[in-house]
Amino acid sequence: MDEPVSYDVDAVRARFPALSHPTSSGRPLVYLDSAASAQKPDVVIEAIDTYLRSQHANVHRGLYELSAQATHLYEQARNRVADFLGASTPDEIVFTRGTTEAINLVAATFPLGPGDEVVVSELEHHSNLVPWQLACARTGAKLVVAPITDEGSLDWLAFRERLSSRTKLVAMAHVSNALGTVLPVADIASEAHRVGAKVLFDGAQGVVHGTVDVKAIGADFYAFSGHKVYGPTGIGALWGRYDLLAALPPYQGGGEMIREVTLEGSTWADPPARFEAGTPAIAEAIGLGVAVQWFTGLGRDAAAAWEAELLAYGTEQLASVDGLRMIGTSPRKAGVMGFVIDGVHGQDLATLLDEQGIAVRVGHHCAQPAMRRMGVTGTVRASIGCYSTIADLDALRDGLRRAVRILR
Ligand code: PLP
Repeated sequence: MDEPVSYDVDAVRARFPALSHPTSSGRPLVYLDSAASAQKPDVVIEAIDTYLRSQHANVHRGLYELSAQATHLYEQARNRVADFLGASTPDEIVFTRGTTEAINLVAATFPLGPGDEVVVSELEHHSNLVPWQLACARTGAKLVVAPITDEGSLDWLAFRERLSSRTKLVAMAHVSNALGTVLPVADIASEAHRVGAKVLFDGAQGVVHGTVDVKAIGADFYAFSGHKVYGPTGIGALWGRYDLLAALPPYQGGGEMIREVTLEGSTWADPPARFEAGTPAIAEAIGLGVAVQWFTGLGRDAAAAWEAELLAYGTEQLASVDGLRMIGTSPRKAGVMGFVIDGVHGQDLATLLDEQGIAVRVGHHCAQPAMRRMGVTGTVRASIGCYSTIADLDALRDGLRRAVRILR
């Protein structure tokens, strides 16, 4: 299959130094684990390098030039993330360590009590399930789970049936990391709002696969991680509607999040500072700002269209591998292919693929309930990034055929 002319994947790949490093076997790296963490383009690496070499100081505190510059770069990153998500104002962007911390922030502060319900789906990453289990245990609220279908889509009627005036929050993935399912986020938001609930989307995979506009979706909160969208680890963001953020109490106490402190008590800064206690991950935030700007410049919809072509091609090629069964076959899917192969253990497959320079992930992908629902304990997962190619997928198909011959 030819690469489409509109998307120059070779030019995209050339921006990612890690992709041109051979593996220890001397074979070229076939990186199919972008859903776990994406590789980094040169601009992100260079921005962090420049910052650490010549621009570093603590932010928001110093009156001297270097601190003012670091503050400017940090706040510029917030502006870039705000643009990336379609936020009304940069003040709606709270930097966090990633999706996990962003969801924990809301779970720890969102007002819940006995009689209230939080609705999640059966396909959630543990990051969007365990924080709600903890919040419900702490507050006496009830966790309600909307089931998924055999193909891994949200069971729409069952979801609607679970909503009521008791529902205070719907917390769902935008895109499933384990099954690839793209959830109908705008419809979920309008159903949640119909019963007076707020809605949080776990966008860890959603931001990577197409343009996200939080206001167009109708979200109230949206969480994502930098490292999955070509930025660094240790940084991510929570977007929240400003009035909702302003109504939440602090998540952690410390420097920067206060208005005034006395020995008797303290008052809080406005969002986003209220939720950013302590010295933030400055270099990482700058790297994230550059990453989202670069990814936007690449064309998020063009990259998504390319990934959709790869997904269709990869799905077809994998079907030709003897005994392979795709787990997650929703008609609305992003570039995640999880599968099992009859009579072959996933760990053994992944090890043999690794010997051929092919990096895939194996296991439950932090979505044990979803795996259980699909009748498996785990899958082998190949996931696509903006730099993935037809050749990567051909290598995977051939590598799997070879591995199956050896292992059976
Ligand atoms: N949600 C989804 C859908 C994910 O794929 C992931 C990571 O794999 C997370 C949440 C957690 O992201 P992080 O570990 O970066 O906080």
